[in-house]
Amino acid sequence: TMVACFTLFFAYFIEMLMTRTLRQLINAKAQLEQLTKIDALTNLYNRRHFDELLPQKMNSAKRTHTLFSLVIIDIDFFKNINDKHGHDIGDEVIGVLSHTLKTATRKTDVVARWGGEEFLIVLYNSTQDNARLYCKYLHERIAELRYSRADNITVSIGVTQIPMPQHNTVLQVETLIKEADDALYRAKGEGRNRTIFHTDRHAKI
Ligand code: GH3
Ligand code: MG
Ligand code: MG
Repeated sequence: TMVACFTLFFAYFIEMLMTRTLRQLINAKAQLEQLTKIDALTNLYNRRHFDELLPQKMNSAKRTHTLFSLVIIDIDFFKNINDKHGHDIGDEVIGVLSHTLKTATRKTDVVARWGGEEFLIVLYNSTQDNARLYCKYLHERIAELRYSRADNITVSIGVTQIPMPQHNTVLQVETLIKEADDALYRAKGEGRNRTIFHTDRHAKI
């Protein structure tokens, strides 16, 4: 009996140990996967993940006949901040701005850091009017931000949308980004601190 008891206990002990190890492994894997998607400075999705996500989201928007806006945000004259105050203060500005972008955006939308001081946001189910209001709100929120040393920053924003009939994924990803980027370029050219839609003929703030 003693041998049987001992064997049973031993088996139970081993099983417990294995379950725990397995659980730890699964957690570690999930954490690692999360890390590869997240930008370390801002905690936003990184470019790699965004590039993976965008075609998927466009597909699902197409399936569900959902309007879809792509927003590119670029900090104005950011190089000046680094030059004047140093890289750490520049990082602080990027961090504070990122937090604002995240809190100003619906949880179901996507916010990503696309490059140094550039951000991409996907707005689902947003008409052009919705997107305009959202960008206006962003400009206002950003104007209210304060930093330890740097002066206030402004951003320029370019926006494009997928009109329903042209919802054609594969070819559209690059086109969509290019349209938003062109609009951003115009926003810079027309004086910065403003939002331009791809379809705008003239500057609109
Ligand atoms: P514009 O209004 O035309 O966008 O001017 P800009 O100065 O913002 O644009 P530019 O592209 O000339 O400069 C971007 C700067 O962003 C240059 C680069 O050193 C800085 N930068 C990029 N990534 C980071 C970062 O992670 N931290 C900091 N502190 N600076 C960064
Ligand atoms: Mg830039
Ligand atoms: Mg810039």
